[in-house]
Amino acid sequence: MNINNERLAKVFTAMCTIESPSGEEARLAMFLKDLFAQEFPEAVITEDDSARTTGSDSNNLVILFPGNLPGEPIFFNCHLDTVEPSRGVTVVREGSRFSSAGETILGGDDKAGIAILIEAVRTIKEARLSHPPFDLVFTTCEEIGLRGAKALDISLLRAREGYALDSSGVDLLITGAPAANHFHFTITGAAAHAGLHPERGINAIQLAARCLADLPLGRLDEESTANVGRITGGKATNIIPESVLVEGEIRSHSAEKLAIFSQQVRDAAQSVIDKWSPDPGAQLGASVRPLLDFHLTQEYPAMHIDRHASVIRRVDKAATRLQREIRYERAGGGSDANIFNKNGLQTAIIGIGMDHVHSTEESIDLRDMKRTTELVIALITN
Ligand SMILES: [Zn+2]
Repeated sequence: MNINNERLAKVFTAMCTIESPSGEEARLAMFLKDLFAQEFPEAVITEDDSARTTGSDSNNLVILFPGNLPGEPIFFNCHLDTVEPSRGVTVVREGSRFSSAGETILGGDDKAGIAILIEAVRTIKEARLSHPPFDLVFTTCEEIGLRGAKALDISLLRAREGYALDSSGVDLLITGAPAANHFHFTITGAAAHAGLHPERGINAIQLAARCLADLPLGRLDEESTANVGRITGGKATNIIPESVLVEGEIRSHSAEKLAIFSQQVRDAAQSVIDKWSPDPGAQLGASVRPLLDFHLTQEYPAMHIDRHASVIRRVDKAATRLQREIRYERAGGGSDANIFNKNGLQTAIIGIGMDHVHSTEESIDLRDMKRTTELVIALITN
């Protein structure tokens, strides 16, 4: 296998300098459409109409490669968008390691995955390697609620199973990821002048504090976590706060536990409101009580791939061919793969070696990208 390291480095660097924050993926999508059209005339480049629902300036791209061997098609997925700060990325290379100049992210999450796919296809074509058909899927808005994946028109794909290149670690396959619920609740009390008429107020912040004091947060057990990440309320120190908004999330690899912990959060908040009674001396109307408005939404469902699934066996086989060990792990977070698995596209996640993602410290090593390219080529050429 003749992987061209410098060619891989060049396309990776070029893509890192194309800004593609969530919702603004069009320039990167255009770069890819041009590249695939010019270099691979046999590929069929399609897109869905997901921009209408995601709010992005680009649709999801699906690129279909014909095969010269019979066999079930597989797909590979990367997301086009990055988190901020992503404006004006300068790529710094020291030896084989890439990072940003320090003011921005690098964007290796997930452009390293895209670069790996491009180099894999280039190498396969150059070496005239035989392979069954395969699909490439490039999604938008992954970082803002997996919106591209949620809106993906899967009828554009021929493959029903495949791989997302979107994790840290090398020679690593992620076969499970937790489900997540988002919750937010508003507690409404009663506003009053804090100095003149405290008897007329119900302090919403104090009620929220009672709720939070009772909530199970942090690592709840070996497969579940909970967090309250934002609290907003109050206007001034001389006003008893009328309302407070509390926002948080719960994750678990177990759907049952996710439901139980979500209910606990709701119950904890409700019981504080139910137990409330006016202070002696309060001057509140008979019907004035604090109110709770609680909302729970599913961010993404859990994914769990059986050890014997063909999507994993194919990796076993590729690893044997490459004479390397692949580690199998569960992830702590959700990604496009959670949505794909839910929608009937069995998807395992391949580690691509990215490090310190979602920070200005982000970096990646060219040697790790090369290693992953070898794995992808082995998977495509079966
Ligand atoms: Zn990512």
